[in-house]
Amino acid sequence: MINLFVNTSYLLANTLMILSIKLLSSPKTARIGNLFGICGMFWAIIAALISLELISHIIPILVILSGALAGICIAYKVKITSLPQMIAAFNGMGGLAAACISLSEISSGSEEWLNNTLSLVIGSITFCGSIVAFAKLNWSRLSAPLHFYAQYIVNSLLFLLGLAFGLCFMIHGNISSFYALGATAGVLGFMLVLPIGGADIPIAISVLNAMSGWACVFVGLSLQSPVLIIIGTIVGTGGTFLARVMTKAVNRSLFNILTGSFALAGHGSETEKTAQQGSPQDAAFLMENAANIIIVPGYGLASAHAQYALKNMADILRQTYHVNVKFAIHPVAGRMPGHMNVLLAEADVDYADVYELGDINHEFAAADVAYVIGANDITNPKAKTDASSPIYGMPILEVAKAKTIFFVKRSLASGYSGIDNPLFYQPNTYMLYGDAKAVTEEIIKALEA
Ligand code: NDP
Repeated sequence: MINLFVNTSYLLANTLMILSIKLLSSPKTARIGNLFGICGMFWAIIAALISLELISHIIPILVILSGALAGICIAYKVKITSLPQMIAAFNGMGGLAAACISLSEISSGSEEWLNNTLSLVIGSITFCGSIVAFAKLNWSRLSAPLHFYAQYIVNSLLFLLGLAFGLCFMIHGNISSFYALGATAGVLGFMLVLPIGGADIPIAISVLNAMSGWACVFVGLSLQSPVLIIIGTIVGTGGTFLARVMTKAVNRSLFNILTGSFALAGHGSETEKTAQQGSPQDAAFLMENAANIIIVPGYGLASAHAQYALKNMADILRQTYHVNVKFAIHPVAGRMPGHMNVLLAEADVDYADVYELGDINHEFAAADVAYVIGANDITNPKAKTDASSPIYGMPILEVAKAKTIFFVKRSLASGYSGIDNPLFYQPNTYMLYGDAKAVTEEIIKALEA
């Protein structure tokens, strides 16, 4: 009877997880998808507690409850702009959990040597790599790629050392070699993420996310737990596909990103040029007389919480002035995949008005106004023209082709990649200096006057 309950619960948990991923693929169904994921995880935990006969033991229950409480507190406290760091930290936790389970399994005499070795190695690399990724995202002064002399030789030596410890463990069953393998894999994880530049960290996080899933699969194989194998496979393949989509979006190879092949460029000489300043009233005048406006949101929108004001501005332009307003989303706008989609969905922007880069780029030539709000790198033409730039090869939103461009930002400062944007100095560009929300609200006032 208990077995039947446990197996049915695992089946239910797996089904909910698979449905959750399906529903998360569209902003319209994402909330319910999230709920399905929570329910799936809840059932998986209940079933695991019952099948392991832990339901009546106070310590595992307390540990799970304190983990859940910590998760809830973090989720409430974390700012939306810090979500990538949180994801990096959670990936690291997944890797650490997998590595700890393998250590405990091998120490208690498990004979699943191969699966435990693989989960230890992948889990340790994921944990230590995620610490570096977290630090790079959280403290911008650490975000530059870190290269040092003979880096590749050191990494190759660490790899060979790990291989030697692994073989020693597999052949002789020497447990100290197993611990040494975990430590070496951890150091390798640190070393592999150090040379990755801040702008490429999201892709590294997708890779680490996939790795935490694969580590979970090997733990599942070792423990013969179908639920771990299935959920690990979902996370592993999801992370792998996300990394693939993101490398395509920035037009770089994964190898190129993981080896940190682009150095972070310094601040160029454009800061000595002068940029034209506009006013919210000028912007309102041009926008109310425009036929087509394309809004390009970026990280500053999130940082200023300007999404509601932006939606309000778009509604007024449409309803009062009959302007055709569209939103253009770059795949790496903001600080996490889908960042802008989430913010616009939160403000109730109709999904039909939101266009991906490939679907809207050809429309900029016919746009009267491009309203670039808190975005920078995703419009920077250096991605096409400057081979030494860290964003070289990344497709950009072609705002330069619009008749007039308004950049809403607080200064001429660079974006995440640390490079100047020549667009600021174009004759058809006007800078609207200030906080994205405050400037947009000023424009709304002028539109309503
Ligand atoms: P950028 O970082 O290029 O530019 C954002 C701009 O917003 C800054 O130049 C800043 O200028 C401005 N800004 C910041 N706060 C405010 C505010 N309160 N009001 C108005 N403006 C503000 O962002 P993009 O979205 O254009 O590009 C994303 C970059 O981040 C890319 O380089 C991408 O690779 C990287 N990245 C992307 C991730 C993802 O998964 N999407 C994750 C991590 C990095 P100022 O200071 O002058 O106001």
